[in-house]
This record gives sequence, structure tokens and C-alpha cells, in this order.
Amino acid sequence: MRKGKYLIIWPDSGLSTKNNHVNAPYHFIHLGEVVNYLNKKLDNSVDVLDIEASQTEFPSFMKQTIDNEYDSVALFLNSENLYNGLKLVEFVKVINPKCKVIGYGEMPLYLPKFFKTTQFDAIVDKNCDQELAILDYFKYGKQENNDKLHDVLLINNNQLIRTPKKEGLDPREWGLSSKEEVPIDKYLEMEGKNQYVMTLSRGCPYGCKYCNATSYYGTCERRRNIGSIINFINENDYDYYKFFSPNFTLNKKEALKLCKAIIMNGKPIKWSCTTRPDLLDDEELIKAMAMAGCYKIAIGIESISNKDLESIDKRYDSEVIAKGINMLKKYGIEYKALVMFGVPNQTKDSILYTIEFLKDMGLTIRPTAYTPFYEMNHNMTAEQISRYDKRTYYDGIDNLSYGDFLRLIYDTENYERILKKE
Ligand code: SF4
Repeated sequence: MRKGKYLIIWPDSGLSTKNNHVNAPYHFIHLGEVVNYLNKKLDNSVDVLDIEASQTEFPSFMKQTIDNEYDSVALFLNSENLYNGLKLVEFVKVINPKCKVIGYGEMPLYLPKFFKTTQFDAIVDKNCDQELAILDYFKYGKQENNDKLHDVLLINNNQLIRTPKKEGLDPREWGLSSKEEVPIDKYLEMEGKNQYVMTLSRGCPYGCKYCNATSYYGTCERRRNIGSIINFINENDYDYYKFFSPNFTLNKKEALKLCKAIIMNGKPIKWSCTTRPDLLDDEELIKAMAMAGCYKIAIGIESISNKDLESIDKRYDSEVIAKGINMLKKYGIEYKALVMFGVPNQTKDSILYTIEFLKDMGLTIRPTAYTPFYEMNHNMTAEQISRYDKRTYYDGIDNLSYGDFLRLIYDTENYERILKKE
């Protein structure tokens, strides 16, 4: 019997998100780790076409589709590449009408109903391990009887049919991006440094409505096995590692264990992670992180103004933020402040207050636009959905034009000229 042939595609994005360092980690996580797991389970029969990272030409995509007669294809979809993803599916179906196509990623999570009227045959459901769902679909999606399918929504006659939930994947089985499977060199170019990204944990109990961390993997946090992290570090020589995790310091006991294991291992590494401002209160942990090579933590502050924080349901205040900043300073870890401009009811004054507060504390600020993904709806076109882009979304701030809003994001250093002009 012919062995199955499968393909995973990352469609090209719009101008604002092409090949940049903010995007690179997602290629490691949502493509590299997924395909690594699938290839282990499917006898290395999964090809990858990372059109965005490799800037693959359309004729190459067509040739690959024609040459391989794939049984099933999966596409990673976010608001920025949805339009191109829909186009690619049309061509896949024209060339090989029997090929089954499944979508995964942000768009299927946010807008499942949108896919009812597309050429997709299925999408991955929320709150599950996406690679498990894709594996089921690749293995059983062509059968008439769908009893073996889990964690996918089947699309049939413009209806979504939900299949049962499956227990999550044991973290010991999580994949690791491999050069043999995905264009890691391109990801490093996107990053602008020799930095390898790996998932450290999945799931977030906070469920902030503008973020997808909880929709992807649920509220319960699971962590990668420490032994496999140490093995990977010992077998590779990247200059930097990014431990991808909604909140590295949420499970303090496990975070501390990892730091101690890295220190004990004896091979020095430099690494960064992400967490919340109110999860930086454990001095023993922060000290251990610094000793284990943590040089930077990206922290989703969003704003310093207590009014802004209330409006996005963040239950910490500027005092808590300041304490965390001082804690990292004490141990020489860079505090990278992730802030959002345009949060509901935000004013020019509160933006100015946030920037000045953070500048006074000597921090690096990385702003994005607050993007109400929850306002998207399935009656929108792919082009309308592409407006929900956290690099450019704007919903109006009193006395701040769209031009000045973008200047603030992309030329933050000149905030005084932008915000104080009459
Ligand atoms: S913004 Fe942070 S805390 Fe909130 S759901 Fe996302 S990862 Fe969790």
C-alpha cells in the first residue's frame, strides 16, 4: 500500500508581519515543533513549505503540489496570512480534489465559523494539543467513519461537526524544531541572532480576552521535561535560547528546578523568557534565573496607568510593576517592557505617563497595538480580518491621529515630539 504523504504550509503574511523578529518564535513553535512530532509518528512522511520564512515562489509551491499528490495538507493560519492561506487551498484542491485540508492556529481558534464556507475540510479545535489533532486527521481524515478523530471540527455542508476531546499530549512527547525539517537558518535570520526557541510550557490560567494563550492550550499549565531541555542544550551550540512560555515564573517550584538543573549541568547558556509583572516576587527564583543564564525577561505590562490596567482586567498596579523592575535590576536581568497602545479608553496622557515611567526606570519598551481579536466575526472577509494586526490596529484615541499612533509604535524614542505637540 502507498505510504501517506502529508504537507504542512505556513502561508505568506502581509507586509507588516513579513520576516521579522517578533514573528520568528511562532515558526519554531507552531511549525517546527508540530512537524517534528508528526514525523516521529508518521515515519518521516510530512513535508514542510514555510512560504513566509523561505519566501517560496508561487511556481515552487505549485510544482511541489503537483509532484507529490498529498493525501492531506495542514495550514497554519493567523489574521495576517489567512487571505493567502485561502488562496493556496483553492489551488491545492484544483490540483488534487481528493486532498484533505485542515487549518490550525489562531484563526481556527478565534473564528471557527468563518471556515464553514471555505474549502477547508476541517480545523483544529481550541484547548487541545494541535499536533495531536493534526496527527489524527492525517491518519484517519480520509475515512468515511470518523470515530477515530479527536480535537477537530469537521466541515460538512457548511456545518461544523465537533469530534470528542482527547487527553493532552505528554510533554515528554513535545517536538523540538529540527534543521532537517524546517528552515531554522531562516528563522535565525528573522530573529537577527543565533537564538533557538523551544516551548517551555503550554496553558495559561489568566485567560486575558485579547490573548490566545488560553484558547490554544487551556487554563492548566504543563511544562516540558527538564531532562530533555538539558539534553538539547548539551547537544547544540546556540548563542541564545528563548524558553517560550506564557508565564515562565507561574510555577515557581518547576521554574526553580529548571534553573538548578541548568546550573548543575555546567554548560553556560544565555536565555530569555516571558512572564507577567506580578509574577516577579520570588527573590530566590529570580536570583537562580540570573545564575542559570537568564539575561532578559519580556514582561507583558501593557500599561502603567491603573485606569488602563483596570480596563483590560489586569489585577496588578504600578507599585507591583515597580517592585518587579527593581528585582530584575538587582540581579542584572534586562526587563523588556511589553506595552500596548490603544487599550480601551486610553488617553494620550496615560500613554505619556506609561512611557515616561518606564524610561525613567531605564527600560527597553516594546509597544504593540491593542487588538480586540474578540471583535472579529465570521461574517467578515479575510481582508477585513487582516485589519486585526497588532502591528497596525487602531481604533481611535482622542487627539491622536492614526499617523501619530503609528509613529508612537515605530518611533517610540520620539514620543515627546509626538505626544506633546499642540
Ligand atoms: S496576556 Fe499573559 S497572562 Fe494573559 S492570557 Fe496571555 S499569556 Fe496569559
